[in-house]
Amino acid sequence: MATLTGKTAVVTGSTSGIGLAYARALAGAGANLVINGMGDADDIERERAGLERDFGVTAVYSPADMLKPAEIAEMVALGERTFGAVDILVNNAGIQFVSPVEDFPVEKWDAIIAINLSSAFHGIRAVVPGMKKRGWGRIINTASAHSLVASPFKSAYVAAKHGIAGLTKTVALELATSGVTCNCISPGYVWTPLVERQIPDTMKARNLSKEQVINDVLLHAQPTKQFVTVEQVAELALFLCSDAASQITGANLSMDGGWTAA
Ligand code: NAD
Repeated sequence: MATLTGKTAVVTGSTSGIGLAYARALAGAGANLVINGMGDADDIERERAGLERDFGVTAVYSPADMLKPAEIAEMVALGERTFGAVDILVNNAGIQFVSPVEDFPVEKWDAIIAINLSSAFHGIRAVVPGMKKRGWGRIINTASAHSLVASPFKSAYVAAKHGIAGLTKTVALELATSGVTCNCISPGYVWTPLVERQIPDTMKARNLSKEQVINDVLLHAQPTKQFVTVEQVAELALFLCSDAASQITGANLSMDGGWTAA
């Protein structure tokens, strides 16, 4: 596994779910952190202080809104000002909305494309010059099984996740000889607030009970019949940061209980 002492990681959407697990895994390997995301200020400060206390690293918080390109650039600049460099960028912030396409609110479409896809583009633009100059970098994008297959009522999310898989491949090719890799991780269903929040809308769109959504939609998609855990996703990210993974670039790594093999 990676030893990341002296390295700095920026993890977007790390106040919850998978992003929080990425932050803890990267800090556990010794990386200093810029954490980011929405939430209660006291909770975020507890998380930041907890990372420093538990892992002996330095963590700063960027309140950058992933809807706003200038704030994304400032988040990267905060990392560079505080730590001298940003070596690892994990584009992870994401939102979800479930609705039949003909009723899909335009503002929800725009927000999902901006937060789940365009924010990664803006973050990558900001970190690449420094990574290229130093000859080392890791860019990891949280895609989804929905980067490979679709589900009804998730038009914006599926489009954004297919988009981030394409962005990943393109950036990987552009940076192939620079020492910087760019990959995406595609989890299946992970029990996080994002999944919990979509259950009522899925119940409505498909006329199902909560238990039916969990068993007949979510777990039904995954041949293992189990949710992926946030720690499993974070371990894969840590591997991508290691020297053993230096030849893995442009990959879309599935961790979906066999969903996309089916
Ligand atoms: P989550 O809701 O627990 O976390 C989402 C994070 O994004 C939070 O920290 C939130 O504050 C942040 N965020 C949302 N909007 C933001 C904005 N405008 N600016 C800054 N931060 C913002 O969800 P999660 O399940 O941990 O999702 C993390 C990523 O994993 C997302 O990209 C999601 O699409 C992807 N993913 C999740 C699953 C799953 O089953 N949970 C599966 C595949 C992919």
